[in-house]
Amino acid sequence: MFINIHSHQPEIKNEFVIQNLLKDFNQLLSPGYYSAGLHPWHLESQKWQQQLVELKKISTAENILALGECGLDKVCKTDFKLQQEVFIAQILWANEINKPLIIHCVQAFSELGDLLKKYNNKTPVIFHGFNKNSRIAEKMLNDGHYLSFGKSILQLRNKVIFEQVPLNRIFLETDETNISIEEIYKEAAAIKNISLETLSLQIEKNVQLVFNINLQ
Ligand SMILES: [Zn+2]
Repeated sequence: MFINIHSHQPEIKNEFVIQNLLKDFNQLLSPGYYSAGLHPWHLESQKWQQQLVELKKISTAENILALGECGLDKVCKTDFKLQQEVFIAQILWANEINKPLIIHCVQAFSELGDLLKKYNNKTPVIFHGFNKNSRIAEKMLNDGHYLSFGKSILQLRNKVIFEQVPLNRIFLETDETNISIEEIYKEAAAIKNISLETLSLQIEKNVQLVFNINLQ
């Protein structure tokens, strides 16, 4: 089984996908699994509190497996104070409902790590679309977090980083790309120099543990 933990596209053949919802939390969900969260790109100071109420309502559903993507982004236009406020609210809520956080983070790793500590986060944290350097990877792993990789592992620099991340701290995803999750698995297995089957079984274990779901 190819498990895609973060995608903005509907499920395709041979794939177990966790689709992401960025807004419209009151829409009727088709069957399947989802993550839902307030993304830093789309925050509006007048609207987010109402959106948070809606997010809280749907996120307790059994097929919503994680809160996110949420986080901090220093490159986007959204006011950074507002980003922090909304992220804190989501850390607290994820801990209340005991679901993992899927993180969007751009140039704000230390601020984000500080907030997780300050607000006493106890739920698993997954940095999605990870394509940063090995120093940041090491720091995130030391803090107990998980890293999810997508098309970036096709690039040389990220191959080196991916090779160093322990198998029990890895997830794979397609995000917005058209590359299939199967292709990403194949590349990942090649970099790790293990069989596709070994990789699949390990990621299945990681998903069951972190997303608290039984895939059997
Ligand atoms: Zn995404």
